Amino acid sequence: MLIDFHTHTTASDGALSPSQLLLRAVDRGVEALALTDHDTLSGWRATQSLQSNGITLVCGVELSCQWGGATIHVVGLNVNANADPLIDMIDHLQRLRGDRAVKIAAKLEQLGAAGALVGAQALAGDGAICRPHFAHWLVAEGHMPSVSRAFDKWLGNGKPGDIKTLWPKLAETIAVIVAAGGVPVLAHPLKYRFTRTKLRALCDAFSDAGGLAIEVVNGRQSDTEIAALKRLAKDKNLMVSVGSDFHREWAYGADLGVDVSVAGGVSGVWEMVL
Ligand code: AMP
Ligand code: MN
Ligand code: MN
Ligand code: MN
Repeated sequence: MLIDFHTHTTASDGALSPSQLLLRAVDRGVEALALTDHDTLSGWRATQSLQSNGITLVCGVELSCQWGGATIHVVGLNVNANADPLIDMIDHLQRLRGDRAVKIAAKLEQLGAAGALVGAQALAGDGAICRPHFAHWLVAEGHMPSVSRAFDKWLGNGKPGDIKTLWPKLAETIAVIVAAGGVPVLAHPLKYRFTRTKLRALCDAFSDAGGLAIEVVNGRQSDTEIAALKRLAKDKNLMVSVGSDFHREWAYGADLGVDVSVAGGVSGVWEMVL
């Protein structure tokens, strides 16, 4: 069975509209799809008026939070989109994103790229404004040769445009997902580039706060990485989740759909969600 529990649309930094994403998932034989846009449920709301074409749609979100001095992403699966604590947190996160965007633009102007706020806002449209909107604008304006260069030079972690943002604490974010009846999943554990010890500490903190699963597949990953993450999940008594983290069609990225057989023996969060 193919599922995908981590995807993005134009509601955040993805290139496809919710309906385009849904059609692509159906074409690829995906049986269950979670939209997990950054800090918003508006993409999922848009799917409510669409024909689901037999696919099971899961209401999801990828929430930005902080732990151990780093920005951490927690996916909430099967959340109730009408739960007040979740709606309040999303409002707060959108304000943080808006404030951060102004500061990112000011930094980029200092670096010689004026007009970034209007440019990135135009690319974001009604969606949550994200660093990739700035990266794509920098490329479109000829300031940077590619999105990855834009991150390497200006927008990536520790670079000038990586504006410190006081995202909510990990435990608070998990509590909000739980209060909304959702399942908290630690997104892309390897992307934080933590030491083994720190990653294990993150899993402990995540689990202590009510976290239930970690992603063992997020986009393209080696078999070695998947095996290590499955061991970590087993060790920490967490379920596993899988997703492409699809943002757009891209030669180096994963396309929609992950075979759940990858979990092999470790319990999958889809057993709880579907
Ligand atoms: P934000 O949540 O607005 O800080 O943006 C984070 C998003 O930026 C991630 O979800 C990725 O989609 C994208 N991103 C982060 N690092 C890179 C990178 N090095 N190259 C391309 N995209 C990146
Ligand atoms: Mn993203
Ligand atoms: Mn993420
Ligand atoms: Mn993501």
